[in-house]
Amino acid sequence: MEKIVIAIDGYSGCGKSTTAKFVAKALEYVYIDSGAMYRAVTLYFVKHYINLTNPKQIEQALEKIELAFITRPESNDCDMFLNGINVSKNIREMYVTQKVSEVSAIPQVRTAMVAQQRKMGKRKGVVMDGRDIGTVVFPDAELKIFMTADLKVRAARRQIELLERDQLVNFDTIKENLSKRDRLDTTREVGPLTQAPDAHLIDTTHLTIGEQVEEVLNLATGVMITEDLKHKTSP
Ligand code: C5P
Repeated sequence: MEKIVIAIDGYSGCGKSTTAKFVAKALEYVYIDSGAMYRAVTLYFVKHYINLTNPKQIEQALEKIELAFITRPESNDCDMFLNGINVSKNIREMYVTQKVSEVSAIPQVRTAMVAQQRKMGKRKGVVMDGRDIGTVVFPDAELKIFMTADLKVRAARRQIELLERDQLVNFDTIKENLSKRDRLDTTREVGPLTQAPDAHLIDTTHLTIGEQVEEVLNLATGVMITEDLKHKTSP
């Protein structure tokens, strides 16, 4: 079957990454967590005391950042490497989460990340999740999903996820962080979070991960069949 690009965007904590990971595994596609890239840049900026209002410093810092994903085939979990070091755990720490939307709003950072993401999806067969994948990174993606869910449900899910990583974080702190990130992500000037007109909206408030995966896989199958037919019937 023809390979397609699946773009999954939406608010923080809707289950995008988990869904994307399972969908990619089922289709034997590459999964790319674009949020991890912005988190890794944020980690670097924090560790190197980069002044977020100094474009020259930001430019120099970006030149020194090398990002790479390594997928663990058993689980399809993506490890994020920053200059050769596995930072998968560090990028999920609260101090990075608190800062990431501010860093992601910097135009130079977005330009650098979008360029890398486009390269990763050039050969198709990718599921990429983020905020601007269907609008900016792959506006021609064959399948676009936009996820939303009730804020309290998202915060509760995130709290469990953090507990599983041995991080005990107050429910209200998580809720405030999610809503602050939503606000910053939707209102920034470059690549704001917004639903592409041709994206399928999925509200995950009352859905299990299994149901979310099934819905995306059903949509993907339909698109792949159509794409296949297009190729077979085109002169
Ligand atoms: O997906 P995740 O919650 O890990 O993303 C962390 C942050 O990275 C988001 O809140 C957003 O500020 C930023 N991000 C972005 N564009 C993307 C993916 C993530 O701005 N494509």
